[in-house]
Amino acid sequence: MTTEETAENSAVEESKGNKTRPRGRVTIFGTWCKGCGLCIEFCPRGVFEVNGQGRPLVAHPERCTACHWCDTHCPDMAITVRRLDEEEVEELEELSQLAEEGALPAGGDL
Ligand code: SF4
Ligand code: SF4
Repeated sequence: MTTEETAENSAVEESKGNKTRPRGRVTIFGTWCKGCGLCIEFCPRGVFEVNGQGRPLVAHPERCTACHWCDTHCPDMAITVRRLDEEEVEELEELSQLAEEGALPAGGDL
C-alpha cells in the first residue's frame, strides 16, 4: 500500500455519513520550517495555505483527519499532529460551525 493510499483510507475511515470529521490538531514550529512546501503540496485535505513568507499556515484546521502525512514527511520535523479525543472533535466542530455562520473569524488555529 502506498503512502497516498494510506492517507486516503484514513480520511475515509474518519468519515461520518457524508461529512469528514476533524481529527487532528496541527502545530507548525516556524523557526524549524525551511518552507520547502511539501506539506502544502501533499496534505490530502488542503489544511495548509502559504503565508506571506512562503511558509505553511494552518488555514483549515477543521479539515485535518490526523493521517500524519505531514508530520512523518516534513524534512525538518517542524510539524506535529495530535489526534483529538471525541470531546475535542465536538468542540472544534462547534467552533467551525460558528465560523461558518460568521460568528467567529475563519482560519487560524481553532
Ligand atoms: S514540510 Fe516542514 S519544512 Fe516543509 S514547508 Fe512544511 S513544515 Fe516547512
Ligand atoms: S495530518 Fe497533516 S497531512 Fe494529514 S490531513 Fe492533517 S494536516 Fe493534512
